[in-house]
Amino acid sequence: MRILIVEDDPVLADGLVKSLRGADFAVDVAHDGEQADSILAVENYDLVILDLGLPRIDGFEVIKRLRRRGGTAPVLILTARDALADRVKGLDLGADDYLSKPFELPELEARVRALIRRGQTGSSSVLTHGPLTLDLGGRRATLDGAPIELSARELGVLEILMLRSGRVVNKEQFAEQLYGHDEEVGANAIEVYVHRLRKKLEPAGVVIRTIRGLGYLLEKKS
Ligand code: CA
Repeated sequence: MRILIVEDDPVLADGLVKSLRGADFAVDVAHDGEQADSILAVENYDLVILDLGLPRIDGFEVIKRLRRRGGTAPVLILTARDALADRVKGLDLGADDYLSKPFELPELEARVRALIRRGQTGSSSVLTHGPLTLDLGGRRATLDGAPIELSARELGVLEILMLRSGRVVNKEQFAEQLYGHDEEVGANAIEVYVHRLRKKLEPAGVVIRTIRGLGYLLEKKS
């Protein structure tokens, strides 16, 4: 299995290479967007791990060019922890999954294995919770197979709850994931999104619990 790592931070790139080679992957590294683009134009990989902030051309442009050439390698983007807009844009441009920095190497390796498996079966990145599914690539949610209408922010809130299903998420964590550093977060904004989500999800038995003073959690189905 061949993986291309595109990362301009030499320390992070080195750590990724060591970890993935240790897990028996064949790993190449590109240190800027242009180098990545030239390599991807002539070589095939089973997975591309792509930083977004890169010298010369950025990660968004690398994905765009890869997909325009018809390249189908799964792409895992590495994004800043709070950059929801970047994740959405990356996924819209054809990335398959993302990991927020900083991340733990075991999680990266698990995502890598999952993406390579999916790359081989041709399906995309989907979270499920009882009757609820969320397609991260297509930004669509369904309940019992029927699409539900959700705003971008509602999707963001749902995604965070599903990724941490069974664990409490506090308002600061939501705000960090959903808003940029310089965006004002209204005092009740998260409450409002959760309230709207509940109205759409509770009829199907999907429960978002309020843990007073702590936050919200998506109740695990027994
Ligand atoms: Ca970077």
